[in-house]
Amino acid sequence: MDPLIEATDLTTHFYTYEGVVKALDRISLRVDRGITFGLVGESGCGKSVTVRSMMRIIQEPGRIVGGKVLFYGRQGTGEDPVDLIAQSEAWMQGLRGDRISMIFQEPNAALNPILRVGDQVAESFLFHRRRSMAQKILSDLADADTRVFPGSRGLQNVLYARTASNPEALLLRLSRRIPLLKRWEMRLKKEAFRRATEIIGRLGIPHPDEVARSYPHNLSGGMKQRIVIAIALACKPDLLIADEATSNLDVTVQAQILDLLHELKETEITSILMITHDLGVVAETCDRVGVMYAGTLCEEADVTDLFQGPKHPYTKALMDSVPRFHQEGELKSIDGAVPNLVNPPQGCRFHPRCPHVMTRCRTEVPELQAVGENHRVACHLYGNKEKSDA
Ligand code: SF4
Ligand code: MG
Repeated sequence: MDPLIEATDLTTHFYTYEGVVKALDRISLRVDRGITFGLVGESGCGKSVTVRSMMRIIQEPGRIVGGKVLFYGRQGTGEDPVDLIAQSEAWMQGLRGDRISMIFQEPNAALNPILRVGDQVAESFLFHRRRSMAQKILSDLADADTRVFPGSRGLQNVLYARTASNPEALLLRLSRRIPLLKRWEMRLKKEAFRRATEIIGRLGIPHPDEVARSYPHNLSGGMKQRIVIAIALACKPDLLIADEATSNLDVTVQAQILDLLHELKETEITSILMITHDLGVVAETCDRVGVMYAGTLCEEADVTDLFQGPKHPYTKALMDSVPRFHQEGELKSIDGAVPNLVNPPQGCRFHPRCPHVMTRCRTEVPELQAVGENHRVACHLYGNKEKSDA
């Protein structure tokens, strides 16, 4: 096993007028290199909040109140893992879109209607290239001999203060004055557009040159979603996060996009973290699965183990509620409703709906524990039998 990103006890709260919404409660999960990890659960169970917390894009009134997210370096580089929760926002900006990219459900919201799609694909590449150029200039200034260039230290400090959060501003300022940088910027723009066209072509879109020069309204839904994927791929990320990326597409297009993601995992990116409420998608595309309920992770296993032997009562109920081709009788639904997370149930958050509830379930929070090789479950029915009063 070779971890790429690992969340430990990640806890996120939203401070609303109705009270504190305990949206995530000590989520621990790990995505290894080379796999597709599926995060499943009903709407509102915290799947999106989990990945948004991992990427540190939780908006007010939300706040990450605990936990760690370790991101391991590129393979073979010997980089130490970094805790993303402890990094500065400027550092995170350098990571997002470059090492970790995200694609969302609604391509129309993700694309800018007044920019050519090729420019939009080129943008993230441009951003990260300008950023590293700006950083290089800053470090060259830092290395400059202060005897030869008196004041260069002061200049560096001023520039750094101005640009730490927005290195583009530095380049923009300098490129107006320095012809060399101006030419660099022009060459970079051309290269970025050419790269964008190439990526669009690699995604199986016919006539990539034409498509790169068109606007979002010229494209179909499936095509737009491919462009959104192209944007995410522009910098060859290690991890691609797909948040319900295919839910809004019709089934045939959905199948094409899933095939495409699978192919990309083999060739372009290291791992995929896929959020979905569709167990069919999970069965078809994922290697490993995490099941979430009301802000907690209740089960984590390899996909075949999970489908052949689900352990947690919620996972079992979720599987029973999937329509089957030779369905006899009514479809089973899960009794009760998803709890309000301002006052989540004590103990196991699933206990008000669980058919196997025991006394200790109402007070003791079940910890995730191993129930087999690479299979973990958070339920008092497993492990520690003496204490149970079933
Ligand atoms: Fe049901 Fe108890 Fe297991 Fe929770 S811990 S799922 S209530 S048996
Ligand atoms: Mg969501």
